[in-house]
Amino acid sequence: MLGKVYIVGAGPGAADLLTLRAATLLRQAHVVLHDDLVPQEILDLCPKSAQIVNVGKRCGRHGSSQEQINALMVWHATEGQPAGSEDRPPESEQRTIVRLKSGDPAVFGRLGEELDALRRNGIQFEIVPGITAAAAAASAAAVTLTDRRAASALVIVTAHNCRDESLEKTIFDPSRSTYAIYMPGPDYGRTARELLQSGLEASTPCAVVSNAGRANQQTRFLTVAELASARGIPAPALLIVGEVARETAQAPEHSFSEISSVARDLYDYDAPISLEN
Ligand code: SAH
Repeated sequence: MLGKVYIVGAGPGAADLLTLRAATLLRQAHVVLHDDLVPQEILDLCPKSAQIVNVGKRCGRHGSSQEQINALMVWHATEGQPAGSEDRPPESEQRTIVRLKSGDPAVFGRLGEELDALRRNGIQFEIVPGITAAAAAASAAAVTLTDRRAASALVIVTAHNCRDESLEKTIFDPSRSTYAIYMPGPDYGRTARELLQSGLEASTPCAVVSNAGRANQQTRFLTVAELASARGIPAPALLIVGEVARETAQAPEHSFSEISSVARDLYDYDAPISLEN
C-alpha cells in the first residue's frame, strides 16, 4: 500500500506544546522516523503497532546519514514499490509515515534535502509546522523577540553550518540570508523598493503566503522586482525573501533502484538505528 509522508514539527519537547494536527497524525501513524531531540512522552502517543525508528545522528554506532533518512522515507512510503507503479489509493487508505523533527521542521532541520528526495520519487507529502526553539526560549525567558520599542527584525541564524561560515559572514551577507517579513503589505511596491535599497538583487526570489495554514491559504512565487507591481494579495500575508524561496519544480524523476538499495543497506547494518514498537 502506498503511503503519504507527513513532515511534522514536534515543538520544543513538551507533549502539550505539540499541535493538535501533529498529535492526530502520531496517533494514526504506521511508521515514525524521528530525531534525537524528540522525547519519549511524544512518541508514547503513537499506536503500539507503529514502527518507531530513531534516525537521530547520535543514535547507534553508525547513525543515519541524510541519504539514508531520505531513502527510508521513500522506502516506507512505497513499501518496496516504485511510486508510479500502481494507482494512488484515496488518502484515507494510505499508510501514514511521520517524519518527526524537533521544533519546526523548516528551521535548521534539513527539510530541503528531504523534500527534494520526496519530490524526486513522486511521494505525496504534507508539512505540519511546530513551535520553534526561538519561540519556546523567548517564552521561557519572558523576552519579546520583536518588542516594538527595541527591535523590528528577528534574524534566525545558526552558529554551525555545513559551509563552516562565520557568524559574521552569515548575518551580514544578504545573498545567504532569508528574511521572513511580517506585515509586508498593502504597499508591496514600497516593500520591494526598500529591499532593493537594502542591497538585495532585483532577481532575488520571494514567496508571499496569504492565510498560511488555513483552508484558504495561497502562495505566490515571484522576484523582488515582480513584487513591486504585485496586486490582489489577500491579508494576512507573510513575505519570505531569499534564495530558499525559489519555486521548486514538482516533476518527479524516479531513481527507485538507488533508494531501494540504500534503504536495504540501512536495515542490514548491525545496529545502526533502534527499532522499537
Ligand atoms: N527545528 C528545530 C531546530 C533544530 S536545530 C526548531 O525549530 O527548534 C537543534 C537546535 O535547536 C539545538 O541545538 C538548540 O540550539 C535548539 N533547540 C531545540 N530544542 C530546544 C529547546 N527545547 N530549548 C532550547 N533550544 C532548543
